[in-house]
Amino acid sequence: MTCIFCKIASGEIPSEKVIENERAFAFLDVKPLVKGHVLVIPKRHAERVTDMPPEDASAVMELAQHVIRRLEGGMGIQGVTVAFNDGRPAGQEVLHAHMHIVPRSETDGVGPIHRLFKAQARLREGELREIGVRLRG
Ligand code: AMP
Ligand code: ZN
Repeated sequence: MTCIFCKIASGEIPSEKVIENERAFAFLDVKPLVKGHVLVIPKRHAERVTDMPPEDASAVMELAQHVIRRLEGGMGIQGVTVAFNDGRPAGQEVLHAHMHIVPRSETDGVGPIHRLFKAQARLREGELREIGVRLRG
């Protein structure tokens, strides 16, 4: 097994664990964006979000809820950004699906994830509907 997050989930590599359940594991990001930056992973290897079986995806989300409650209860944090960098174009570097939970404050100056993009997409007349039709299949 070469995946670093598989090794963290199994305890082969040490991590600063926060909490775990049967199928998911939460630990502190070793290079946190802010104090309390947590990663939540499925214990079973899955590269992408869509590779997680639904029971693992549910376990990750359930654990994330516990983590957020602990951040908000124990560290006085009042909001978090929850995100997956899913796939290389989205910046995924570790190829084992992981949810970032990043504590936020009103004064951090970062804003919503919409700020990742400079502007909204420009749509032709009817294009929103066309995209919806395509996605519905
Ligand atoms: P991503 O760009 O979404 O793939 O982010 C990977 C994250 O994993 C980064 O924020 C890293 O700081 C974090 N990371 C990498 N190796 C470790 C490790 N051994 N323990 C904790 N966090 C790690
Ligand atoms: Zn893995």
